[in-house]
Amino acid sequence: MPAIHARRCALDVIALGLLLALVTPGWAAKAAAEYRGRIIDAHAHLPARHAIDTYVEAMKRHNVAKVVLLGVGSAQRHDAAWIAAAARKHPSRVIPGLPLPHPTTQQAADQVAAGLAKRGARVVGEVHIRHVRRRIERDPSDGPFTRVLEVTGRRGVPVVIHDDLNARATGALESALAARPDATVILAHAGGAPPAVIDRLLGAHPNLLVDLSGMHFQRRPALATETGPIDPAWKAVIEKAPDRFLMGLDVSTPRLFEPAMLDRLMKWTRRILGELKPDVAERVAYRNAARLFHAE
Ligand SMILES: [Zn+2]
Repeated sequence: MPAIHARRCALDVIALGLLLALVTPGWAAKAAAEYRGRIIDAHAHLPARHAIDTYVEAMKRHNVAKVVLLGVGSAQRHDAAWIAAAARKHPSRVIPGLPLPHPTTQQAADQVAAGLAKRGARVVGEVHIRHVRRRIERDPSDGPFTRVLEVTGRRGVPVVIHDDLNARATGALESALAARPDATVILAHAGGAPPAVIDRLLGAHPNLLVDLSGMHFQRRPALATETGPIDPAWKAVIEKAPDRFLMGLDVSTPRLFEPAMLDRLMKWTRRILGELKPDVAERVAYRNAARLFHAE
């Protein structure tokens, strides 16, 4: 074969390959490069006082700039002390949250006001509204919790809630959001709800944000398996409202704090972010959290 013809054939093969790649379903998932920009983990917990050191080492390995540390409802007595100690030891990396273990008691709003004044927390939570596994069922639209939202709204501090959404819980959440439009609420783990429900809630309530923490391959519902593509319905909802989503790992147990597991979770997170449009990925991974938690 003459050299020039061979070269033309080779070019044709490359062109055909590119064409096939473009029209073959699943190609985008395989070929999308992982997100390489900045990340704020917007939702994490400590299972022990010194666990933060293990986490910070993983942050350095994976270029995660900051982590938001939250309490785990009323499940751990020492959350506030552990978060404060972590923020003192790693001030440039830790964004401290103010735990609120009993959000619907009459004292809750006063506790939040006092806690915010004292601790310099930049977010309140994680507040358990409806938590099926822990058998917690609270009404966010009753007096005590809307007074909490009044305090946080006035101070411009967002509240992270765990709310396993069913029809009743969704209605109660919507009442609370409508009652305190100045308060910002972050729905953790997307409320365990389908993307269509989240799409509707975001359209109806400008004071709602959604964190995608804990929607990784170790849990259900997940955005994706460990190696598979992002659920296209989730991708569409996120890209439709790119300023309304945050990313996080929701690490909480000693098993998730093992370095090899942290590596897998952080690698997965970068891969999933890489499947979003680049400007959307940067907002979800970093800019939305930086704005919300004053972390620039
Ligand atoms: Zn959590």
